[in-house]
Amino acid sequence: MNQIVLEILNWYHKNARNLPWRVTNDPYKIWLSEIILQQTQIIQGLTYYEKFLENFSSVNKLAKADEDRILKLWQGLGYYSRARNLHKAAKMVVTEFNGKFPNTYNEIIKLPGVGDYTAAAIASFAFEEPYPVLDGNVFRFISRLYNIDLPIDEQKNRKVFLEVLRELMKDQPPSTFNNAMMEMGATVCKPQNPLCSTCPVQSYCEAYNKDTISIRPVKNKKVKVTVRHLNFFFIEYHNGFFIEQRTGKGIWQNLFQLPLIETMAEAKTSDLTLQLKSLYNYNVKNKVIHQQSLRHLLTHQTIEAQFWHIKVEQKPLFINKNMVFTNLSDYKNFAVPKLIENYLLLL
Ligand code: SF4
Repeated sequence: MNQIVLEILNWYHKNARNLPWRVTNDPYKIWLSEIILQQTQIIQGLTYYEKFLENFSSVNKLAKADEDRILKLWQGLGYYSRARNLHKAAKMVVTEFNGKFPNTYNEIIKLPGVGDYTAAAIASFAFEEPYPVLDGNVFRFISRLYNIDLPIDEQKNRKVFLEVLRELMKDQPPSTFNNAMMEMGATVCKPQNPLCSTCPVQSYCEAYNKDTISIRPVKNKKVKVTVRHLNFFFIEYHNGFFIEQRTGKGIWQNLFQLPLIETMAEAKTSDLTLQLKSLYNYNVKNKVIHQQSLRHLLTHQTIEAQFWHIKVEQKPLFINKNMVFTNLSDYKNFAVPKLIENYLLLL
């Protein structure tokens, strides 16, 4: 056996964290964990994983669920298209695979929201198919171990890393090998301050020997971040307020939010008066009783949100038919974006 692999596997057997999705070969549970962990760290991911399994103990139950319920359980993880794809994929398992989770990489990758990484993870962890997993942690670890200076965000370089992994994986149980590589990247070869002094492959590590750790892995592209100005209206009426369900495509599709007006730049009350009048049929000029700014950071967007608290005596005549009257305890039954929840928790 390759000596590097031997050291990594020995280390893994002694140091692996005890995680529920590692002690099962149920593809449904592994799939759930992988989709959730793309959005969050292990500790928070565990809570979501358990919550999903409590509510939907099988892929068939997930397929039958209301999308609103799934979005509500997903709340706080962000990137809601992953939750919608989870639902679509569960339905596809029922309709196209007779309710039985597909058991080969080539079939698994057909599921919505499942790319090469997730398909490799499920196929290897559940079915011992020899597909290496290549997530950010493994990219970093391999790029340092072999001092590879190819940008990891260029698609064409992915196959170079996969080839290295395939070679290392030979003759090893795919699930153990993949778990060990991921665990090394996550807990030892960390992005900042890697634990080189206790690393089992330090003597083989080319980046360590050539002092290039801080410049590995190489990334080319800078993420282009756009700034959006969102004005939300907390319209208080008889101890309650109004939320609306988003219908269009976008990051918060089908979630509930406070009535919204998006502007090109930071807005003043006067900028919003006309637009709000057409939305809720009142002149708001003198009715704003509180204003709160919150910033929300997403991978590709910075949201500069302003929340306008308005009190009205008469029920607004909304044009929007998706408007729902709720209050500060009832709204918790609806899936709302984290940003909206953060504001409501301040009230
Ligand atoms: Fe990563 Fe340091 Fe180990 Fe090299 S020696 S693989 S940089 S932890």
